[in-house]
Amino acid sequence: MSTTTMETLTIKTENKFRTLTTKRAYKKGEVICDIPSENLTNEPNRFTVQIGRDKHTHVGKLAALNHSCDPNVILDTENMKMVAYRDIEKGEELFFFYPSTEWQMDAPFICLCGSANCINVVAGARFLPLSTLERHYLNPHIREYMIELLNNTKVHLTEL
Ligand SMILES: [Zn+2]
Repeated sequence: MSTTTMETLTIKTENKFRTLTTKRAYKKGEVICDIPSENLTNEPNRFTVQIGRDKHTHVGKLAALNHSCDPNVILDTENMKMVAYRDIEKGEELFFFYPSTEWQMDAPFICLCGSANCINVVAGARFLPLSTLERHYLNPHIREYMIELLNNTKVHLTEL
């Protein structure tokens, strides 16, 4: 069976709020589908996922993926795959941790996921403490930005 299609995923809409659910179960680590990369832009919007520095891709159906601070999927932008982060049951809604791909989001919002580790304000990785980020799966471009931010901070401190 091909893992590249999104046939196993369903978008549900209720009161204009979209959710993405799965029609089948997945085991932790299993590839669910490819992340589309045909339609790139250098600015983020609600329908894009960041896959590199100033590089954002329109993700089609995956734009219906909601954020959770306790996610069940990851978007691996190095291999361009959506992967199960834990065992997932048939019919479950899929969520990923937005700051794992997004450095600075176009449309920040308040998270109501109810997780014990909820970050509350979802605005991108640059607005989160390192101690919070380190608890999550992070893509290489987010790590790069973090290192850059730390180095800049060091420069500013030595200039004081
Ligand atoms: Zn949350």
